[in-house]
Amino acid sequence: MAVLSIRNFPDPTLKQKAKRVRTIDGSIRKLISDMIETMHSVPERVGLAAPQVGVSLRVIVIGLPEAEDIAIVNPKIVRRRGERLINEGCLSVPGYFGQVKRAESVTVKGRDQNGKEIRIKAEGLLAQALEHEIDHINGVLYLDHLESTDKLYKIEPEETQL
Ligand SMILES: [Zn+2]
Repeated sequence: MAVLSIRNFPDPTLKQKAKRVRTIDGSIRKLISDMIETMHSVPERVGLAAPQVGVSLRVIVIGLPEAEDIAIVNPKIVRRRGERLINEGCLSVPGYFGQVKRAESVTVKGRDQNGKEIRIKAEGLLAQALEHEIDHINGVLYLDHLESTDKLYKIEPEETQL
């Protein structure tokens, strides 16, 4: 496993729509384990999408405190419910956070690292992390959801990073 370097805004990979993974093989499993190690290399990080490490593929990982790590290949939101305003930060936009509109709960479909179909129903931080990381593979940053740059604030060092 290896800790990969994180691409920061305005790196062009972050603005690309990532490609679908056709075959979940050893190289994808290695990417997933490297992404998980990279995510855990700083304790406040709870999620990471492949474009953030310069790989334009539809792969995301999520590691919430006291929960098992989740890796999803070709994730897709199949249902969104409710709406809430929450503060959000991003590893690729260091030093800032903003207030964005997110769903209260989401249902996501995709495949795990063994190619098995998975379906996750989530609310709270997990729902937020899923929406945030799936935005990344569509070339979308939370900055794109801000009403204006006035809504962007300087971060305190201990905030959660998605
Ligand atoms: Zn992010």
